[in-house]
Amino acid sequence: MFEYMDMDVTEPEGRTDSGPYIPDAGECIRCGMCVSSCPTFRLFQTDEETPRRRIRTISKILVEKLPITAEEKFHLDNCVQCRACEMVCPSKMAYGQLFDDAQAQISNKPIWLAKLAFWLIENKQWRSRLMPLLAAYLKSGLQQPLRRSGLLNKLRLADAESLIRTPALTPLAGFYPSSITKRGRVALFTGCIAEHFDRETLLAAIRLLNAIGFEVLLPPQQGCCGAIHQHNGQSAKDLINNNIKTFNALDVEAVLYTASGCGAMLSEYDRSDDDAGKRFSGRLSDVNDFLLKHWPDDLQLKSSNLKVAVHEPCSQRNVLKNQQVVYALLQKISGISIEALADNHICCGSGGSYMLTHPENTAHLKALKQQAIIAAHADVVVSSNFGCALFLADESIKVEHPLLLLSRQLYKAALN
Ligand code: SF4
Ligand code: SF4
Repeated sequence: MFEYMDMDVTEPEGRTDSGPYIPDAGECIRCGMCVSSCPTFRLFQTDEETPRRRIRTISKILVEKLPITAEEKFHLDNCVQCRACEMVCPSKMAYGQLFDDAQAQISNKPIWLAKLAFWLIENKQWRSRLMPLLAAYLKSGLQQPLRRSGLLNKLRLADAESLIRTPALTPLAGFYPSSITKRGRVALFTGCIAEHFDRETLLAAIRLLNAIGFEVLLPPQQGCCGAIHQHNGQSAKDLINNNIKTFNALDVEAVLYTASGCGAMLSEYDRSDDDAGKRFSGRLSDVNDFLLKHWPDDLQLKSSNLKVAVHEPCSQRNVLKNQQVVYALLQKISGISIEALADNHICCGSGGSYMLTHPENTAHLKALKQQAIIAAHADVVVSSNFGCALFLADESIKVEHPLLLLSRQLYKAALN
């Protein structure tokens, strides 16, 4: 059984109130305060599925340099990486970093499908070549017979296939000028698949940025943020270096992202003492934050009587910690009713690639979140993370980025 409070909560040595402090995995005081915040503990109700136990496994890997058992690896891999445990830990355990460091130390041999996914994430040209094939498949009428055949299940492709949406096939332009008096220039991070599958959000961000007087650059050399690689024990170094080099070369006042999952990864590019990483992070901003900060007093939006429920992605709540900005931004639309989704502190289960690697766990967590969505009786649910929106939406549940709502309320005169 669990010993929730099996040790006194005392400040670890070396802890200061100012400046970053990252305790090593051995400094967990086993207080158990993280246990109830963990979605996998909620699912399984066992000590093995708690952050505290995972930290113990990580400590074995990183501090004691001991091999771990298959069972310990299984429970470590069950982590959704929501980082809710970091929010409540009195020792300020940097769980996300410790998890990534541990994954990098142990042997992770990806299956063929994961290898293919990593390769496609790294190779923009091949990704672009695949998109017309996906679009043709969705149009062909083969989807239902193929699903019924059971072949997708045999190939372990059923979960990935169920998430496919019609991709945008033409590339976005590299430059979007503002038609009003120029206030500045920003760069937009599009990442790996958003350009194809979350085109509407990117265009909404560009319309809004143009409407407040910012021209927008989209450097074609940019690539994936590296989160999927890093959280799965693969090296993300080349992807990180490519983005740092690409964006640092631009004469812009900010580098903006729309998906909080990517933003969480990008915000930690300065983990090393590298000056280039720090320059990158110094100009990085969530597009929601940037829009709110630079919103002109005279920019009015059309009013709306929609009822909106706000989903707060874990990357936004637990890493970026800026979820409140979404509510403030939506209040630019007069007449709108905005409320937080119940249990926003509990992960929806999407977890980047987790929705593909742990389909049963994610199905349970998704069902809980969808119950909260249904109970909200909202016209629309907004989420600032593309992965969560894609994962949670279905025929009866509409989930979209808050920028889509805002951009629809722009008066025509404010559009390019
Ligand atoms: S990870 Fe933090 S909250 Fe959890 S048991 Fe250890 S010290 Fe306590
Ligand atoms: S990151 Fe989330 S799933 Fe993983 S141990 Fe922490 S609370 Fe649990």
